[in-house]
Amino acid sequence: MTVHDMRGNLATHATRTFTDRDVGSLQGVAFHHSAGSTGGLDKFLSIARYHVGPNHISGSGCPGICYTMGITSEGEVAIFHPLEAKTWSHGNANRSHVGVLVCGDFSTPGHDAKEPTPEQLWAVCCVALAFRSAFGVGFGFAGHFDFGKPRCPGTTIETMVRAMRTHVVQPHDTGSLDTLGAVQTALAKLGHTPGTPDGIMGPKTRGAICAFQKAAGLTVDGVAGPRTKAAISKALADAT
Ligand SMILES: [Zn+2]
Repeated sequence: MTVHDMRGNLATHATRTFTDRDVGSLQGVAFHHSAGSTGGLDKFLSIARYHVGPNHISGSGCPGICYTMGITSEGEVAIFHPLEAKTWSHGNANRSHVGVLVCGDFSTPGHDAKEPTPEQLWAVCCVALAFRSAFGVGFGFAGHFDFGKPRCPGTTIETMVRAMRTHVVQPHDTGSLDTLGAVQTALAKLGHTPGTPDGIMGPKTRGAICAFQKAAGLTVDGVAGPRTKAAISKALADAT
């Protein structure tokens, strides 16, 4: 899998430009399909030309191709815009998510539409994990189906995105909670009562971990394992 930087090579609108969004407030990556034919990087050139002209999204044309990245039929990844660009011509649909276009029409599996290629599915996984790795465990995986378009990007990628949501946790992504003392300090900041942060597991600390786990919807076992630490990290990040 190769990443191609297509910034500057794609058609843009003569006068309109994308507004900026706050990268720090991005909440996840959202996958789409192109609802058109399969193809390579040249396909993205033609989609960009289509988006900047009068189209189904905007009668006066969009500022540019309305996604941040794309994945070709062979699983090549292309970058269209910097993350700061809110890649949507109107409304706030892409304020919170990074739009990734997967080339092909996957809306009606089993009919005349195509399925994503194995290379595309691999790239979807890699892109999702790259963002998770860069932004942390709280960074979400989504599809257009989460935003009122049930057939985008099709059943196969939707199933994969939902599975990744459930199963992908990066055990190492536990922030700075390497020691029990750090966990105790963090729990106290979150309003729990683990007692003095002494790095020693006692009834107060175990109780505080249980209370956090219960509130976070985790398995309540009183052990600060990778999932619990990751959730504490996220709660801390959300609280600051
Ligand atoms: Zn879509």
